[in-house]
Amino acid sequence: MNKRIYLCLAHMSEAGLEQKYIQEAFDTNWVVPLGPNVNGFEKDLEEFVGENKRVVALSAGTAAVHLGLIGCGVGPGDEVLVQSFTFCASSHPVTYLGATPVFVDSEPDTWNMDPALLEEAIKDRIAKTGKTPKAIVPVALYGMPYRIDRIMEIADRYGIPVVEDAAEGFGSRYKGQVLGTFGRYGVLSFNGNKMITTSGGGALITPDEESWREIMMYATQYRESYPYYQHEKIGYNYRMSNICAGIGRGQMTVLGDHLAHHRHVQKLYEELLAGVPGVQVHAQPSTGEFDSNFWLCTLTLDPALRVKGQENAYKTIVQGAVGGAAGVIHAASSAVTDCQPNDNVEAMRVWLDAAGVEARPVWKPMHRQPVYRNCPAYVNGVSEAIFKVGMCLPAGPYVSDEDVRYIVETIKNGIE
Ligand SMILES: *Cc1c(COP(=O)(O)O)cnc(C)c1O
Repeated sequence: MNKRIYLCLAHMSEAGLEQKYIQEAFDTNWVVPLGPNVNGFEKDLEEFVGENKRVVALSAGTAAVHLGLIGCGVGPGDEVLVQSFTFCASSHPVTYLGATPVFVDSEPDTWNMDPALLEEAIKDRIAKTGKTPKAIVPVALYGMPYRIDRIMEIADRYGIPVVEDAAEGFGSRYKGQVLGTFGRYGVLSFNGNKMITTSGGGALITPDEESWREIMMYATQYRESYPYYQHEKIGYNYRMSNICAGIGRGQMTVLGDHLAHHRHVQKLYEELLAGVPGVQVHAQPSTGEFDSNFWLCTLTLDPALRVKGQENAYKTIVQGAVGGAAGVIHAASSAVTDCQPNDNVEAMRVWLDAAGVEARPVWKPMHRQPVYRNCPAYVNGVSEAIFKVGMCLPAGPYVSDEDVRYIVETIKNGIE
């Protein structure tokens, strides 16, 4: 095996429709952040998500989180309840608005926001601050649906709007309904490594015409209707480019294939790793309500499992940030932090890497991130415990059955 197997790579349609739509944009001189591709892509998204939603295509999923929070009226001094077990794009926009994220830990089966802990957090914030939190942000981690019926029931009881972060969960369903359509707003991401890509981009699912118009105003610098620039509110330059939307239109034709492939790869990992002691593939609850897109396959390693090279784990400082942020990094001053995956997980990552397989630790919970050390957190230990034992494996259209077999064999060979 000499190709490298990546976590999740962008995959274009066989018919090359992405390039056709891009070419059209050039031919008609719509090389701007609006135009026929943007409108067409939004139509495609609206058709897919259903529920009579209106969608705004944006430059990033992070922008969608930001505008969703603005749509909920989040402002300076407010608090927003955010799932702690997530990528930073769920919580960073809360801070852009001068508000404070209050982190809520996960439940063991879905790895997503624990509804009981959510309610405890709401009650405690009201008791401590005299104010009701302004929004709730559950996250479909690795595509797994959150328990949205319970979260919505609690949210409605306290009158708090929900912004669903379905950036990783595009196409996942709960009781047959597409994620992102339950809360007031729903976030999608089309970054290069997500379920479909626009190279970079995102979208906000909005509940009605009025919210859609308001979000559209915020996404385009909030320009009032005058012959000159007239601004009554602070807006953002967040609209998706017509070039990127062309890629999105092409990608929508293969979304169904991508979803089927991710689910197929997950099933294969589950089958092939079923008998391996100390290795547990993270499956979805079998109650029939959950239909994950399995954006990435995740597994956990028993702390007692010995992995080859484990004695050398964390002995050298890693050169480069996860996902390689433009190659620009701070040199880490230490190879370790006070909260990191177990040595056997790091050893398995290094072992797979040497065999040409990209694996990653699961996301480090936000309540353990130095930048959020002063934020309130409602914690039950679940996400931190999973962070210590969890890892992500390659999935997506480029990962063949043969690749999965190779990855599984490599994992087995890495166990002492
Ligand atoms: C990818 C992602 C986002 C949005 O990210 P962008 O890269 O800005 O599109 C938001 N939340 C989560 C959980 C994500 O994984």
